[in-house]
Amino acid sequence: MNILSLIFDQSCLLCGTSDSFSEKYGLCRRCAFPLLFHKEEGERCRVCGQPLISEDGICMRCRSEDYNFNTNHYFWNYEGTAKTVIGLYKFKAQRRVGRFLALVVYRYLRRRGLENVLLVPAPCSPARLKRTGYNHMEAVCRALKRVYGIPFAAVLRRLKGRQLKKLGKKERKEELVDKLYIRPRDAYNFKVLCQGKHVILLDDVFTTGTTASSCARILKENGCESIDILTFAID
Ligand SMILES: [Zn+2]
Ligand SMILES: [Zn+2]
Repeated sequence: MNILSLIFDQSCLLCGTSDSFSEKYGLCRRCAFPLLFHKEEGERCRVCGQPLISEDGICMRCRSEDYNFNTNHYFWNYEGTAKTVIGLYKFKAQRRVGRFLALVVYRYLRRRGLENVLLVPAPCSPARLKRTGYNHMEAVCRALKRVYGIPFAAVLRRLKGRQLKKLGKKERKEELVDKLYIRPRDAYNFKVLCQGKHVILLDDVFTTGTTASSCARILKENGCESIDILTFAID
C-alpha cells in the first residue's frame, strides 16, 4: 500500500475532507451528519413508512397490498446524497460506508428502545456476490454485531436468477418465490434463534415491497411469528 492510497482511504468519499469520522465511516462529519440526524416529520403509513397525504393510518398503495411483514421503516428517500452513499457501498464496494450504515441502524434501534432484536440481512444475488465478493447487507449486520453486539442470522439465500430491478412487480414476485431459500441446517438454527426475538429484515432500498414481503414469508414459514423491515431508503 502506498502513501497516496493511505491518504485517500481516510478522506471523505463525497467531498475529500479528512476527519476522524471519515477515517472510520468513509464520510466526513459534514457529509454524514445530515443523514445520521435526519428527522422524520408528519404522519407515516404504518405499513410502508411513507408520509401520508390525506389518508388515515395506511397509504393508498398499502391498502391494496397483502404484505407478509408488519411495518417498514426507512431512513431516507432514494435520491441525492443518500442514493450516492448507498451506491458507494453497494456498487463500488466502499466498505467503510458499511460501518456508517451500521451506525445509522444502531442509533435507530437505540432511539426506539428496541431490544431483543434479531437482524436478518436481505440476501444478495449470486451475480453481485461474485462481483463484489461480499453480501453487503450481511456486512452491515456483521459490523452491528461486532461493534454493538446486535445478533443477526444470515439465513436467506438467493439462487441465480434475473436482476430484480429490471422486472415489474408481478415478475419480481414470481422470480423471488422460486429463488429464495433457507438451507435446512440454517432453517433449524433460525427456528431456535428467532424465538422471543423481534425479527427485523435489513435491506438497502424498499421499492415495491415485493422483496421484503417474499423474505418475510419464507422467514415466517421457518418459525418466526412476525417480522418488521428496516431499509436505508425508499424509491
Ligand atoms: Zn465530506
Ligand atoms: Zn404505505
